[in-house]
Amino acid sequence: MPLVVHNIPAFTDNYIWLFHQQGDTDAILVDPGDSTPVIEALEQLGLQLHAIIVTHHHPDHVGGIDRLLQKFSVPVYGPMGVPQVTYIMKDGDTLNLGGTSFEVLAVPGHTLDHLAYFSDSEPLVFCGDTLFAAGCGRLFEGTPEQMWASLSRLAALPTNTKIFCTHEYTEANIKFALAVEPDNSLLQQRSRQVAQQRKQLQPTLPSILSEELSTNPFLRANQKSIKDAAERHCGHPTTSETEVFSVIRQWKDSF
Ligand SMILES: [Zn+2]
Repeated sequence: MPLVVHNIPAFTDNYIWLFHQQGDTDAILVDPGDSTPVIEALEQLGLQLHAIIVTHHHPDHVGGIDRLLQKFSVPVYGPMGVPQVTYIMKDGDTLNLGGTSFEVLAVPGHTLDHLAYFSDSEPLVFCGDTLFAAGCGRLFEGTPEQMWASLSRLAALPTNTKIFCTHEYTEANIKFALAVEPDNSLLQQRSRQVAQQRKQLQPTLPSILSEELSTNPFLRANQKSIKDAAERHCGHPTTSETEVFSVIRQWKDSF
């Protein structure tokens, strides 16, 4: 059965994902930072909340859980350290929910507890604030080494994997990506496509891993064009992919 994934906009630029098997009304929620839009969506779509999945502890990903649990008695799957979690998930675990099997990947960097949930049957990944469309999360807790390793794990998933990240940052991310790689024609093409989608107020997510591999500078720190741009920016040679990644992450922070 194919999965149906609904996108629930929250706050200014978050997406809460709600999915279920086609024809089934038991729905699973990913990263409910807010409860009000979730409750509205469940009513509108005629779905029953079955479980909650959490990627990391930030308030815009967990802030709605308490109120949802007052209304619905459902299990919460996520990292240790999120107090509402009833089933602690860690790297290598398998999670079977709503007829879909997910592999749990530890992807530290944005936070130390960050998890991603990958299903190879679709394939798709709920990756929170680790990999964004044309970007990646800020390093609040982890090191560049950790984040580069996490992004490299996501980069190794099947190239047709749909990327369900949690923020609509794509347009701003592409502006930065073009500053790093102005001559990347696939990136230029993506820029035009995303500008068109946003003009029509359409979400730019999910993206596809193959387009991230060809246009996302943070997945391309192993490419010569990104290494050259990083060295021009920092003014000295780099000696590793991690260093290239670190330079462009810092460049983006002050962009
Ligand atoms: Zn976060």
